[in-house]
Amino acid sequence: MIKRRKTKTVSIGPLKLGHRHPIAVQTMTKVFTTDVAACLRQIRKLEKAGCDLVRIAVPTKADTQAFAKIVGKSPIPVVADIHFSSARAIEAIEAGAAKIRLNPGNIKNKKDIRRIIDCAKLHKIAIRIGVNEASIRDLKSDVAPTKRIALMLKEMRSFVRLFERCGFDNLVLSAKSADTARTIEVNRAIAENFDYPIHIGLTHAGLPEDALVPSSVAIGTLLAEGIGDTIRVSIAGDPVKEIQIGKQILRSLGLESRTGPDLIVCPTCGRCQVDVVALAKKVRKRLAGIDKQIKVAVMGCIVNGPGEAADADIAVCAGAGKGYIYKNGEKIAAVEEANLLDALAEKIENF
Ligand code: SF4
Repeated sequence: MIKRRKTKTVSIGPLKLGHRHPIAVQTMTKVFTTDVAACLRQIRKLEKAGCDLVRIAVPTKADTQAFAKIVGKSPIPVVADIHFSSARAIEAIEAGAAKIRLNPGNIKNKKDIRRIIDCAKLHKIAIRIGVNEASIRDLKSDVAPTKRIALMLKEMRSFVRLFERCGFDNLVLSAKSADTARTIEVNRAIAENFDYPIHIGLTHAGLPEDALVPSSVAIGTLLAEGIGDTIRVSIAGDPVKEIQIGKQILRSLGLESRTGPDLIVCPTCGRCQVDVVALAKKVRKRLAGIDKQIKVAVMGCIVNGPGEAADADIAVCAGAGKGYIYKNGEKIAAVEEANLLDALAEKIENF
């Protein structure tokens, strides 16, 4: 059982972040913000996939105007992604953002930061202070990794102080790098030094096939240490994929709060009696609409299958031309291969 680090509760519209609340999975829309219909279509798909909050880029005034239309129709809280412009930040807050993501390091004038804070206070919204390794002011390319972490922490500390001096503490913190090890290190340091909720993820990790491992290692390691209140898996591709991977990371650590089936599939070996992968894909399709907490296993043989699937609620272990269905480790049926899927579906439904 993972013990989460204590963090304050921060409200983002109806969503609450902090150690007392489920870890939220988030992503960004990846269509033009000015295409309001496309943005809303993407947000609805994301919500269906289990996205808890969504961030939208608002680089121009036309974007914040479109943002206002999106916010009112979005089924999940919407965060405005701000870079370089205090005007965009204020427009987005006034348009109804539940939170803004701000890198104070790229807002040159401190007075502008204070104006943003005042506006956020007035509208009672949250701000994520996002420090990125790539945008650290004093960072030169030959700075050693440990110094980089110290610089990111120093920058975060100065921003947090600025916000606190202005009486603003509805904060979420994030310190990101494209480097997996540094992302882990810097977030450990953030967790040691602050008690605000932490957003974790890599700044960028690559195409889906390249991004999966670095993001899973960085986010998984931190979550296993109890660090992190919201996660974003960054991949160059469909944002739905980011949500699916994020939820898989949570599920693999027992941190997913929503119910739903888990599918275990044996890795297959020379003892396999059926096409396990094909059978597992069919089982996964059948499980798609099921909303109960159930662990289902698909195993390729009856030699090791029953033992290896002992902690599954329902398991099928394949024999030659037949499948044996197990419930809580006990054999309950032997079914011809042709009828296996239907028999398994029935047992799952009745479980
Ligand atoms: S369950 Fe059987 S087929 Fe699957 S990996 Fe284990 S021994 Fe091999």
